Amino acid sequence: MAEQPIAVIGGGIGGLSAAIHLAAAGERVIIFEQNDKVGGKMGEWRAEGFRWDTGPSVITMPHVFDDLFAVAGKRTSDYLTLQLAEPLTRYFYRDGTVLDTTINLPRMLAQIERIEPRDVEGYLAYLAYAARLHRITGKVFIYDTPPTPASLFKVPLRDALRVDAMRSMDTAICSFVRSPHLRQLLGRFATYVGASPYRAPATLNVIAHVELNGGVYYPRGGIYAIARAMARLAAELGVEIRTGCAVERIMVENRRVRGVQAGGERIAAKAVVANVDVSTVYERLLPSEATSAAYVQRLLRAEPSCSGYVLLLGVQGQHKHLAHHNIFFTSDYRAEFADVFDRGMPPNDPTVYVAITSKSDPEDAPEGMENWFVLVNAPALSERYNWAKNAPRYRDRVLETLAKFSLTPQIRAEYQLTPLDIARLTGARRGALYGTSSNTPFAAFLRPHNRARNIAGLYFAGGTTHPGGGVPMVTLSGGVAARLLLEDLGKRL
Ligand SMILES: Cc1cc2nc3c(=O)[nH]c(=O)nc-3n(C[C@H](O)[C@H](O)[C@H](O)COP(=O)(O)OP(=O)(O)OC[C@H]3O[C@@H](n4cnc5c(N)ncnc54)[C@H](O)[C@@H]3O)c2cc1C
Repeated sequence: MAEQPIAVIGGGIGGLSAAIHLAAAGERVIIFEQNDKVGGKMGEWRAEGFRWDTGPSVITMPHVFDDLFAVAGKRTSDYLTLQLAEPLTRYFYRDGTVLDTTINLPRMLAQIERIEPRDVEGYLAYLAYAARLHRITGKVFIYDTPPTPASLFKVPLRDALRVDAMRSMDTAICSFVRSPHLRQLLGRFATYVGASPYRAPATLNVIAHVELNGGVYYPRGGIYAIARAMARLAAELGVEIRTGCAVERIMVENRRVRGVQAGGERIAAKAVVANVDVSTVYERLLPSEATSAAYVQRLLRAEPSCSGYVLLLGVQGQHKHLAHHNIFFTSDYRAEFADVFDRGMPPNDPTVYVAITSKSDPEDAPEGMENWFVLVNAPALSERYNWAKNAPRYRDRVLETLAKFSLTPQIRAEYQLTPLDIARLTGARRGALYGTSSNTPFAAFLRPHNRARNIAGLYFAGGTTHPGGGVPMVTLSGGVAARLLLEDLGKRL
């Protein structure tokens, strides 16, 4: 009898990564994806001659992809052309200040000097601090299996005291730099995990290191090229990808996974990797007798990361003063996060992000036009804000905000994704972009483990498990899930 396959539920980046790792280790793998294409939150939309990425737009940590392709004996460059974004991002402030972040240090320091000369040394000290956070926390919180409080004992005491988890990101930033412009810019990195700089632990300043020291990358052909490349590598390794195939149930007997039920068919599997929100797996996919109501409630109570409101605009003309990545900052950042995380409302005066991939890939828009991906922080779905009713009004608010920067795009094509759409299209609980919240110092310890705690043969990959949300993180999570699974099979990766 043929050996049973491993079932991967969900073809998001975490699921694809897990499948690649497992297939490279010689396992037979089937991915079940409910949508008609893989990628999950990493999606793309083509219409009226435009192409837009609909999810991630900022890619950092390219070494994570190098490691993934290397697992299969391949090179990233065999599948993807990653180019460094220069500038990384162009920041526009309400007082007319414009600042281009760059990994070119002299260029970066010259701009900081013009804003606040004393911040040149502060910025250099901050970069060193963020690099140190990466060195100290990388092994424990990012690249390895999930941390436990005991993991901290592996860190030399001197370093453990420098993890800086007990003050907020913003407090730490303010201790390095004085300029409100730079403080706002550095605080923005909290949003890379859907958190608030005024609540997230200072440890998350590590994100500034990966971007400001490591760079932002763009794959030619669009961000979706990453999902396409991973699906291609998976297929080459023999992974079977069944799209349009939702898993309805994970079959469990005597606390051991036996397979999945999809499209009414029961498929035996020796293990299951779920790339679905962990709370959804417990609430909807596992038989109730295999779970505990208290644990399900605990998962459902966990605060989600923020969501987002997206406008996809086809815009007439070439806006030469815009870069590929642009941020139009609110004048009151604190109020923006209070709206999102305290009031559960989209920001009254939002920071607006605009990514224009046609700056790098002109074929993404018809000649003489641009494809704008416009993103605003939004709260996770709750009864406090009714997107179905209010989306048209909020869309106008976003465009009014851009007008404050003298930007009034002539719109030739327009689509939108509210948090409701993000939840519906990707299965994200409450439309959260990055899984559970990183707003507390304990978030890294509270995330569900990649190995289910009381069901043998069940593993998790994706933004709601370790090491958290964001494309590089979920790629790593697929590797961790695969490693634990293979260990349990008595194999090594
Ligand atoms: C608008 C937006 C902007 C973002 N910006 C960035 C960014 O700039 N940089 C960055 O790094 N990250 C960004 N992110 C976050 C990033 O996209 C996610 O963290 C990451 O892609 C999530 O991957 P995942 O592995 O958790 O799977 P997901 O993308 O959540 O995919 C899960 C998959 O499972 C499938 N599925 C669910 N239930 C079932 C079922 N029962 N049966 C079969 N299939 C099922 C879903 O259809 C989906 O394809 C952004 C996300 C969004 C939405």
